[in-house]
Amino acid sequence: MVFWGVQAASVLVLVVPFSWPLVGLWATSHFVRAVGLTLSFHRYFAHRAFEMSRGARFFWALVGTAAMQKGPLWWAGNHIDHHKYADHEGDPHSPKLSGFYHAHVGWFLHDARWKQVPGSNPVMRDFGHAPELRLLDEYYWAPPLALAVGLYLAGGLSWLVWGFVLPTTTLAHATFAINTVNHLWGSRRFHTRDDSTNNALTAFFAVGEGWHNNHHRYQRAARNGFYWWEFDVTYYVIVLMNWLGMAWHIQPVPARIYAEAEGHRAPPLGVTE
Ligand SMILES: [Zn+2]
Ligand SMILES: [Zn+2]
Repeated sequence: MVFWGVQAASVLVLVVPFSWPLVGLWATSHFVRAVGLTLSFHRYFAHRAFEMSRGARFFWALVGTAAMQKGPLWWAGNHIDHHKYADHEGDPHSPKLSGFYHAHVGWFLHDARWKQVPGSNPVMRDFGHAPELRLLDEYYWAPPLALAVGLYLAGGLSWLVWGFVLPTTTLAHATFAINTVNHLWGSRRFHTRDDSTNNALTAFFAVGEGWHNNHHRYQRAARNGFYWWEFDVTYYVIVLMNWLGMAWHIQPVPARIYAEAEGHRAPPLGVTE
């Protein structure tokens, strides 16, 4: 299986020569594709947190698809089900309901989930008519394959390993950790009906997505870090695009949500008032 093959091949970093520029290649490949996933698959397709041009939309969807986590419509469709059921029956990946392994990777590799976009959500209605997006969803394996082949041709095995194999593995776990770590460990600012948490470590590796309790409280906002100290690289990219005239209708966090945040702090998980 391709997924496990790439994961296992990560050990090749131990045999190819080490250099700091190769670490830079890892970081570029991990973080740029992370922004593709979070900015387009998550905040745009699943949550409609801002608007962007069709060209910019395709660019970021292509970058996100190169992360090897299937296509934008499939990804966003499953994610909408996550919010709809959030740690209750029907959530595709809840560590509380189905255990850590299934919530982390099992659901992603599960045949029934893998083959279809859930029909109970608006992603297909809103975006299913765009041929370039249907194409990415259908041939989701092509962008990561092209990236892998391109890196190999450009720099041999060491570029393939540091620029594709290792960052694809770290990005998979950074993304999946939002579904597991962020429903198990961290702090809770808001009382939500799920177990979501805020966690600075996952926010770092998943470019802002680790402020997940904020996000479960108010999904529509373009930012998941609600305060300046909650770093959110994806949001900074959206703001930059806005300055450049490439993104607009940026959805803010409403004043009532800030008032709620400042009015009370939720007790730790499992503690009732
Ligand atoms: Zn969640
Ligand atoms: Zn979400």
